[in-house]
Amino acid sequence: MHLAHLDDPVASLRRPSAADPWRILISGCLMGLPVGVDATSNGADMPADHWLRTPLVRLVPFCPEDTGIGTPRPMPDLDGGDGRDVLAGRARVLGPDGEDLTAGMLTGARAMARRALEERVDLALLMDRSAACGTQVVSLGCRFVEPVRYRRGVGVAAAALLEAGIPVVSQRDHRALGLLRAALHPSFTPDPTALDHHRHPWVLANLPDPAV
Ligand code: SF4
Repeated sequence: MHLAHLDDPVASLRRPSAADPWRILISGCLMGLPVGVDATSNGADMPADHWLRTPLVRLVPFCPEDTGIGTPRPMPDLDGGDGRDVLAGRARVLGPDGEDLTAGMLTGARAMARRALEERVDLALLMDRSAACGTQVVSLGCRFVEPVRYRRGVGVAAAALLEAGIPVVSQRDHRALGLLRAALHPSFTPDPTALDHHRHPWVLANLPDPAV
C-alpha cells in the first residue's frame, strides 16, 4: 500500500501514543547517515527540530544498499524494469560500468523487509528515485548517461517492503506527509495545495501513466 495513493493515509494507521509510538522505518540517508553511494547523506539530513522528532514516533533508520553492497559503492540503477521486476527475476540492477549489482540489491532489500517486520513498523518513509528506496519514480538505466530517464515504479527495497505488507511513502509526497504531520501535531495545518510526487506537474507531463 502506498500511503500517497490513499485519500486519507492517516485513517489506515493506528493512533500513536508516547507509550506506543508510530514505528517508522526511514531511509538511512534521510536521517543523515553517511550511507549514500559517495558515503555522504545525499544532502538529505533531517534537522534537529524536524516534525518527526516527537515522542509519538520511533524512527528506525536503514540503508538497503549499504547493507547489501557496502559504502562507498557504484551507483546502482534499474535495468529492464522496476524493483518488482527485480524481485521477480525479470530485471537487473547495474552499476555505471555495467557491473551486475542485482544480488547485493536483493540482499539489502530482503534485509530491510526483515527489519521492518522484526520492528513491526507502521510505515516506511523512503527516499524517492533511488533504485532501492524509490517509491513513486525510479531511474530507467544509468543516471550518469544524459539525458537521465525516469519511469514510474518502485525500487527493489520498496518493492520488498510492499510485498511484506509495509505501507510506504516518499519524502516527496508532500500532501500525505502533511496529513501525517497534522496527526502528530494537531496545531499544524496541512497545506491544501500540497501535492504528492505522482501528482507533481513534472511527473504528470513527463511520466504519463493512466494507471496512477
Ligand atoms: S539506498 Fe536508500 S537509504 Fe541508502 S542511500 Fe540510497 S536512498 Fe538512502
